[in-house]
Amino acid sequence: MRKLVLLLALAGCGEHLCDFEVRGGCVFDETAAMTPDRFLSVVRLADKSWGTIDLDGWYFHFLASTEPFDCGGKEAVGCTRYGPEVVEVFNVSDPLDCSREAVLFHELGHVADHGASHEDPRFAIPYTIFGLCQE
Ligand SMILES: [Zn+2]
Repeated sequence: MRKLVLLLALAGCGEHLCDFEVRGGCVFDETAAMTPDRFLSVVRLADKSWGTIDLDGWYFHFLASTEPFDCGGKEAVGCTRYGPEVVEVFNVSDPLDCSREAVLFHELGHVADHGASHEDPRFAIPYTIFGLCQE
């Protein structure tokens, strides 16, 4: 019982394990592949579309799992959860295709837009803008 109380207290304090922080946002990658430079590159691209995005308090969780997961009742490869300010990005088998960066870019739009709709045309920007993995 004592352990349960402690776990609940930890869950309630909003602290996450971070590999690194960018603009007050906490980034944790279960695969340890995401770097601060790469993350910031995607954020800066997203800034160009949305204006400077406020990452303060957000937790960016890159999962080791390659299985799409449930996001608000839909199967997804990325998810922005507004209540806890969490962005989740699933893993892909080929890191060179920049899929995780593309998903992150999309989810950053949700962080900036504060909505789950895709009606804003900026969500339709093609992922081919990514030269990050062709270096
Ligand atoms: Zn979306």
